[in-house]
Formats: sequence, C-alpha cells, structure tokens
Amino acid sequence: MTEMLLEVSGLKKAFKTGGGVLTAVDGADLTLRRGETLALAGESGCGKSTLGRMIAGLTPPDAGSVKLSGTELAGLSHRALRPWRPKVQMIFQDPFSSLNPRATVARILEEPLIVHRRGSVGERRREVARMMERVGLRPEAAGRYPHEFSGGQRQRIGIARALMLRPELIICDEPVSALDVSVRAQILNLLADLQKEMGLSYLFISHDLSVVQHLADRVAVMYLGKIVELGGRDRFWTAPSHPYTQALMAARPLPGTGQRLRDKDILEGEMPSPIGPRQGCDFRARCRCAFAPCAGTVPGLRPAGPGHDVACHLVPG
Ligand code: SF4
Repeated sequence: MTEMLLEVSGLKKAFKTGGGVLTAVDGADLTLRRGETLALAGESGCGKSTLGRMIAGLTPPDAGSVKLSGTELAGLSHRALRPWRPKVQMIFQDPFSSLNPRATVARILEEPLIVHRRGSVGERRREVARMMERVGLRPEAAGRYPHEFSGGQRQRIGIARALMLRPELIICDEPVSALDVSVRAQILNLLADLQKEMGLSYLFISHDLSVVQHLADRVAVMYLGKIVELGGRDRFWTAPSHPYTQALMAARPLPGTGQRLRDKDILEGEMPSPIGPRQGCDFRARCRCAFAPCAGTVPGLRPAGPGHDVACHLVPG
C-alpha cells in the first residue's frame, strides 16, 4: 500500500452574494495516495474547482482540514504556507488566460524558481530548456510569447510551469476541456507519462467522464458542494450506485458512434440553487428513485462495498 499524500475532511466554503450565501463546498472528504489519480467529476457549478483551489491553498476554506503528508495546511498563515506551496501546483482549463501575455515563455517558466529562490541564473535557464523539451516544446521557442503558440502548445506551457518546482500533487482543473479532440489525447498521454516518470499524484477535475475514464484510479462524484460517490475505477464503471452517478454515466458519449447524449436528455430538471438553506437530499427533485426519507435528512457517505462509499438513502446505513 503506497503512502497517503492528501487527506481532506469536512472542507467547507461559502461566498456572500447579492442574493444570499452561496454554499460552494459543503463538507468534502477525500484522500489521495502517492502516485494515484483521483478524478473529481460532476456538472459545472457543483463546487469542483473551489474544492481544488482550497486544496492548492489558493482559496482559504471556512472550515475543515487539508493534510499533505500528515501536515495540516488549512488555516496556516501565508508565511507558514510558503514552504508547502511548491508541493501542490495547479494546471488550469484555459492556458491562455492563466499565462501572462506580456511575458516570454522563458520568463513564465523561470518565475516560480525566482519566487522560491531556486538555483543560479544559469541553472534556472537550463531547467527551463529541459522542462520545455520534456513537455514537447522546442527550447528555441523560449523567447516567444503565449499568443504565438497554439492552444495545445499553451497547455504544454501551463504543464511545464506547474512542474518547475517539482511538485508532489498536481490539481488539474479541466485541463483538456478547451482543446480540440485530437489535441486532448496528446495532452492526456503527456500527463500520464509525466506521472510515471516523476511519481506525480493528480487530482483531476473534469465534467467529462470519458476523460475521467482515461486517467483515473479512483473517482469522486460531486453534486452541489457534496461528494455523493467515491470509489475505485473498476467498481465505479461497473456498478455506479448513486442515482446521480448513474445518470452521468448514461450521458457519456456512446463509444464508436460519435453520438453524445447531453445531461439534459438523461437528468430531468436543473441543479437546485446553491444559495440559501436546503433540506434533505439535494438531488431529490431530479432523482427517479426518491422516496419519503429523502426529503427529511441529508444522506452522508456510507460504505457500499470495499473502498466504495455512497451518499444515498438507498444504501443501507
Ligand atoms: Fe435519490 Fe433519495 Fe438517494 Fe437522494 S437519497 S439520491 S433522492 S434515492
């Protein structure tokens, strides 16, 4: 059994809005072992990105715990967090908006090393060239600007930047959803190769289950700020248990046909508003299995099999 790298428990985040308090993440629990890929799946707006940003230390949580290699990071001051920041890095959905348009690639990649005072000028330049080569970019292009690259190349720059500090955990937030299908496979293969080569662990955020299927060792499904199902890849694909997961699976692209059923063809109704107080199971208005207890209490995660937890009243407590 490999070492536990990340332990998240009871993580919460709410934002004040003009219409009331918006609960983005409502008590999330998950773990990640070293070298593992955990996919975080769910519709847009379910809180996946906020959870990822809290784990990366970019958004402070309101409550809960984030432990990296056993050390509590939630609630640490900016200064106390500094030595831990290099260990957790993010790759973003839109590489163009996340790259400084006025900086050359050399500058973008060198900057994390400068901020964390790593290496001499010469060592940093050699590391930039080495990393560009590793992600499939020509080091001679280091003097060019982000707009001079294609979308796939820009995502390679984003990946290289995330790797410059030799992180242990990378949070990939929809890293291929803005790319053409042909480029997606190249980027996913690159991420898989880098994981093997550098012993990386990934928290892979995606609304697209076909992407999740490609990479994940385990899958967590999120709905309206809560994790509703968490399980190993095989169990997840063969026996999804939560009615929401089952609906997402039914909405996957059909293999070999190129056809795609949209969520709305499978899931009836909209996700409820995350603003204001709620009661009972958040999924019940869309759930074809809802019964009386679903309106009363919020189901917590409970074991549905080995390494498989489901938050649903259909699973015996
Ligand atoms: Fe459906 Fe009830 Fe399970 Fe919620 S708790 S998913 S409403 S059966």
